[in-house]
Amino acid sequence: MAQSPANPHKSSSPTVALSETDLRKRFQAIFHNTFQFMFLVDMDGIMLEMNQAATNITGIHAREAIGNALWELDCWADEAARNKLKTSIYRASGGEFVRYTSEMRNLEGASSVIDLSIKPVFGEQGDIDFFVVEGRDITNLKRLEFERDRERQYADTWQKLNEMKNEFVSQVSHELRTPLASIIGFAQTLLRSPQIAPEKAQQFLTIILDDGRRLERLVEDLLDISRIESGKTTLITQNLDVNGLLDYALHIIAPEATSKNITLERTYEAPTRFLALDHDRMTQVFVNLLSNAVKFTPKNGRVDVETVVDEKNGELHVLVRDTGVGIPQNDVPRLFEKFFRAKQRDHEGKEIRGTGLGLAIAKQIIELHGGTIGVESALGQGSTFTICLPM
Ligand code: ADP
Repeated sequence: MAQSPANPHKSSSPTVALSETDLRKRFQAIFHNTFQFMFLVDMDGIMLEMNQAATNITGIHAREAIGNALWELDCWADEAARNKLKTSIYRASGGEFVRYTSEMRNLEGASSVIDLSIKPVFGEQGDIDFFVVEGRDITNLKRLEFERDRERQYADTWQKLNEMKNEFVSQVSHELRTPLASIIGFAQTLLRSPQIAPEKAQQFLTIILDDGRRLERLVEDLLDISRIESGKTTLITQNLDVNGLLDYALHIIAPEATSKNITLERTYEAPTRFLALDHDRMTQVFVNLLSNAVKFTPKNGRVDVETVVDEKNGELHVLVRDTGVGIPQNDVPRLFEKFFRAKQRDHEGKEIRGTGLGLAIAKQIIELHGGTIGVESALGQGSTFTICLPM
């Protein structure tokens, strides 16, 4: 049989030990050609070796770095990154494998996000010889994740806006349908019954007028809220006395209160205070709160208006307190939402009517003035609305 030529690269014996030099060469080849950047550090975090990839990312050469603590290299993003590295090496000295996300500064001074791990390497006696600190630049990965999250958020917001728009359209249609159906129904009855008794006709016409007015109010409120929400409303402020404005609102509401024999009381603890307010808008808010208080308070009840100065917070508080039907606790958090109505009934069991837009508008107006509005209520005992205005 012909003898095959000897392969010069194949060792004749499978177990020939490599020389120190060959081993070093192999280690260097692997160490310097990996994509990950690596540092070998001792138990005190002092640099023993660093590979080419580490030089590439930090711009620091091994000869400058070896002998210094790893966290002292001028490549970590900030003090927090240095401290985290120090404590992580300390944790790894307990034999633990530590991995976390850190930040480094690259050659251009831009910040890079790094997936960093610290692995203890054990010697023959089971003691830690050194640590391999290995890192991977995941800036692009993080940016992609961030962009994906942002796109998802955009899509969610878009969907929510769409849902809100649909809900709004369906609520408006619902609110318009009831008075419209009543107006059309009673008008048809009147047309079809020429012999109808005058008192009956009078009654039907009153309903038509009431529902027509309700529609008018609803459309006005809708236009109002859409103007405010689209940012088209600017306040026309002047220095106004809050107590004076409240007196004006009380004067407007007085006939409604008198018709139910409701007492209107005022306690102006706050001396005359001039605040930058929009006269018409603030009157609208005060009239809304007072008219609600009268509407939701049974006959012979009482409505109190108070002003108090909160020097500590630099605020003036306006309180509108009634002895009315109150609001169920579950409904309180939703009270300032558009169209929300707690659907209380009056003492005759009749539903108390409204558009459910007044408080939503009031909240927007108060916020435009830099203030807040809130409510406390006990069912069957009454409610207190509080407006806090900055002084
Ligand atoms: P509207 O009174 O036209 O329905 P609002 O936005 O002014 O609309 O009020 C929303 C709801 O808040 C009312 O339907 C009612 O359920 C509740 N509410 C407001 N003020 C009072 C009050 N003083 N007492 C009891 N419930 C109230």
